[in-house]
Amino acid sequence: MSFCYCGRVAADRVAWTDANAGRRFKNCIGGTNGCRYFQWVDGPLCSRAQVVIPGLLRRLRDMEANYENQVLEAQKRENKKWRLRMCVVCLVWLVLYVFSGSEKK
Ligand SMILES: [Zn+2]
Repeated sequence: MSFCYCGRVAADRVAWTDANAGRRFKNCIGGTNGCRYFQWVDGPLCSRAQVVIPGLLRRLRDMEANYENQVLEAQKRENKKWRLRMCVVCLVWLVLYVFSGSEKK
């Protein structure tokens, strides 16, 4: 356990910048009210990892965004189907109501 300059237990965090993707560090939990304590836990990434990991993260984020769009589109299609089904049900009820009324005359 390590402590920051203002005496708090330093927080374990993970950097997600391109140069340090996945690299762990510790800093002050005080945020803007805290000190400027900063300490890397892991050594620097090799140059190959600095290229590969950010590329994989971008692909993952693109896939997640694409998936969310597909889920939204699927929900819209389901809503349209439901509205269409309700329109058909209402139309059938209306037709049955009109014909049942005309048969009584
Ligand atoms: Zn601090």
